[in-house]
Amino acid sequence: MMISNSFGLKAKAKNYIHINTLDDLTFLETLNDEEILILGAGTNVILSDYFNGTVIGVNLKGIETNNNFISVGAGLDWADLIEYCLTNELHGIENLTHIPGSVGAAPVQNIGAYGVEISSFISSIECFNLKTKKYETLDNDQCQFKYRDSIFKLKDFVILKVNFIFNKSFEPNLSYPVLSNFLKDNSIDASSLTPRILSESVKDIRNSKLPDPKLQPNVGSIFKNPIVRTNDFDHAFLDGHRWDQDDEYTKLSSARLIELIKSDLSIPDTLRFYENHSLVLINNGGASFDEVTNLLYQIKSKILEKFKIELEIEPEIISS
Ligand SMILES: Cc1cc2nc3c(=O)[nH]c(=O)nc-3n(C[C@H](O)[C@H](O)[C@H](O)COP(=O)(O)OP(=O)(O)OC[C@H]3O[C@@H](n4cnc5c(N)ncnc54)[C@H](O)[C@@H]3O)c2cc1C
Repeated sequence: MMISNSFGLKAKAKNYIHINTLDDLTFLETLNDEEILILGAGTNVILSDYFNGTVIGVNLKGIETNNNFISVGAGLDWADLIEYCLTNELHGIENLTHIPGSVGAAPVQNIGAYGVEISSFISSIECFNLKTKKYETLDNDQCQFKYRDSIFKLKDFVILKVNFIFNKSFEPNLSYPVLSNFLKDNSIDASSLTPRILSESVKDIRNSKLPDPKLQPNVGSIFKNPIVRTNDFDHAFLDGHRWDQDDEYTKLSSARLIELIKSDLSIPDTLRFYENHSLVLINNGGASFDEVTNLLYQIKSKILEKFKIELEIEPEIISS
């Protein structure tokens, strides 16, 4: 069976299990030592051509609401949750508009954009523990959320439902200059800003910066932005491309680091960096798993060698 993925890599799997109702969890109880891949919409994975194991897809899509608490099936499209929140006056995730993927994958790398991370709105997560073979509910602390990270990266849990608490009042986060400047340039001030306008603005900014995976296959940012101890080294060469996190830590722009070594890279014809964003790698057509991973490891080693900075690949590299 073919595995659909937004990077357009040709990939097949030996077996596929679909969780359409909670009764289907019995299929997971029978899994033994085989390789397992839990997959949502496939927008954050780099796949080899054959997965010699079982792919698990969660299709639960229900939404249950109780005031500002809402419980959402992992299989729902992220865009549908954004729309639901806008329609039902549940606030807080407008800045996460237009991130592709499913609700169930959002906690895995703690999706974030324009100063907002989804972990701030998660009260608990209902999942199937593949080790204990039990249904478990993890509270926010147990999820161990960090920048683009959580306990779910260990792959022990199949996320089935995500339980959120949203804000009843609209308190926009405009801390990112790119967002506040866009609003200013479009003459939108605090009095005229609504959740819908904020969400549409985020969508407009993203459309101007990021390629549509359906037209130009990609997985979004290919590396995380490294967070380093501010005093560990002199990063003045990244002025304008780094953001102080607090007194101790600074986040560096991976896009800028890639631009600084791009001319030293040997890039196959099947791949290219997006013209408007150096952190987005595009499959021109026919790229292979090896070509992609070789290029990523080449970038990592050049940046380590030249700047002593270790980059971490953002999408999951999957081979078996
Ligand atoms: C154009 C573009 C822009 C993007 N912009 C952003 C951005 O601004 N911020 C950001 O954070 N990300 C961004 N991403 C990355 C991606 O959209 C998110 O990581 C998204 O949450 C992935 O969803 P998915 O359903 O496609 O996950 P998949 O790619 O299917 O899976 C991603 C990971 O989650 C795991 N997983 C998936 N579903 C489950 C589940 N039910 N239970 C347990 N584990 C599961 C998988 O095993 C895998 O490790 C972007 C991607 C693209 C293509």
